[in-house]
Amino acid sequence: MANIEAVIGLEVHVELNTSSKLYCSCKNIFGAEPNTNVCPVCLGLPGTLPRLNKQACYHAVKMGHALNCRINRISRQDRKNYFYPDLPKAYQITQADIPLCENGYLDILVDGNVKRVGIERIHIEEDAGKLIHDGSDNTLCDYNRCGVPLIEIVTKPDMNSSAEARIFLENIRSILLYIGISDCKMQEGSIRCDVNVSVHEAGSPVGTRCELKNVNSFSAALRGIEYEIKRQTEIIGKGSSIERETRRWDDKNGISILMRNKENAEDYRFFPEPDLGTIALDEKEIAEIRENMPELPNKKMLRYVKEHGLNDSEAFIITSSPDKAALYDECVRLQRCSIRSAANRIVGEITKFMNDTGKSISETGITAEELCEICSAHEKGLISSSGAKTALEELIAHGGRTEEIIKRMGLEQNTDIAYLSELADKVISENERSAADYRNGKKSAISFLIGQAMKASKGRADPSKIRNLIENKLKKGE
Ligand code: ADP
Ligand code: MG
Ligand code: ZN
Repeated sequence: MANIEAVIGLEVHVELNTSSKLYCSCKNIFGAEPNTNVCPVCLGLPGTLPRLNKQACYHAVKMGHALNCRINRISRQDRKNYFYPDLPKAYQITQADIPLCENGYLDILVDGNVKRVGIERIHIEEDAGKLIHDGSDNTLCDYNRCGVPLIEIVTKPDMNSSAEARIFLENIRSILLYIGISDCKMQEGSIRCDVNVSVHEAGSPVGTRCELKNVNSFSAALRGIEYEIKRQTEIIGKGSSIERETRRWDDKNGISILMRNKENAEDYRFFPEPDLGTIALDEKEIAEIRENMPELPNKKMLRYVKEHGLNDSEAFIITSSPDKAALYDECVRLQRCSIRSAANRIVGEITKFMNDTGKSISETGITAEELCEICSAHEKGLISSSGAKTALEELIAHGGRTEEIIKRMGLEQNTDIAYLSELADKVISENERSAADYRNGKKSAISFLIGQAMKASKGRADPSKIRNLIENKLKKGE
């Protein structure tokens, strides 16, 4: 069969971190006792009226700016009608025809090339409740999540592989963290996406798409995309055609299952929400939000590569979280150590710590000042690289002052020639075989001797000094 190409579009739902819900004053928090953050409005009791939370609109506009969208000064709210037990009102307030933000794009880096992914729209809508299947025949309803504000980001069908989708989603997550409109806790369902996939033969028109629901993590999105591409390719390979379907992704078994043939917009009986007016923003509000946007990760990344000489992967790792980037920026600003060593430590030990523990930098004892102290102590030869690592680990775990840590943990690198000379003699006499090997021309034997000296000094001997000493002593004895 001819070359198969895949087309992917994503619908990303993000829970906003406003303090109250979208249309009532119930708290917007995760993990409360079921059905404690509810009121007549979010339960959809008759006779109640919704009131829009303006903060949620500002959050959406922020994301609109970040994704280069046109911001609609006037946008509308609509009812999407359907029945499901997690939706007590039997309709969801969303934005159908006129969303807050439209027509944007996000440039992502794929294998070193810039790829532009179009953004169709960003709109606000309310979340539904949560159904809990308790293992018996019962299903329990928790309505705390009803009315929690969401933005939905809809991309154009511009991605062509699961790898591109992954990079796109990671970029979106990182932007959300930078602009601070969501806590992005995947395990709490703060970001969820629907995945649209189609395949076609190269040169043919784009194929019919299937939409995967219930995709709860970025890695599940990848697996779902891969699976769909394969499934659809096989169907086409057999000469059959793809039906437009909504399918449920079963991540545990790694398969997608037919939920329903795609419903049409008409099925939802969309109509303008009669209990709410249009959303009107004035130019000043929109401009003010734009002026207060922080530097976004993509731009930062380019700056680190161009101005600081970091490579793509280092720049990506540092910018992937706003607090890592802030730490790095502050080290650069302080100018107390080289940019290179600060970058190395952040990409190395600090990233490892964050990955291992899931903690953020603010949860550690690290400050830019102390990180710079460690780097410069190493640059000046006061501590070895393993000493720097130890000091940094101590700083991460307990905080404190670098100078004090180095003293307390005995990390000073020993540069005292008398001590080092004695150490070299001792190592040579205790390892006659290696010494003889070296003298007989096996120059690599010196590494072993240096290693022994480092071990004997608990990593504190100055490595270049000890190398010279051992070399000179061995040559003398030749
Ligand atoms: P719906 O309202 O039915 O979900 P939309 O027009 O909002 O449809 O599109 C939903 C998503 O489907 C968008 O992210 C879009 O990029 C994607 N999409 C559209 N056409 C295709 C296609 N041929 N293949 C894959 N994805 C597609
Ligand atoms: Mg859809
Ligand atoms: Zn409420």
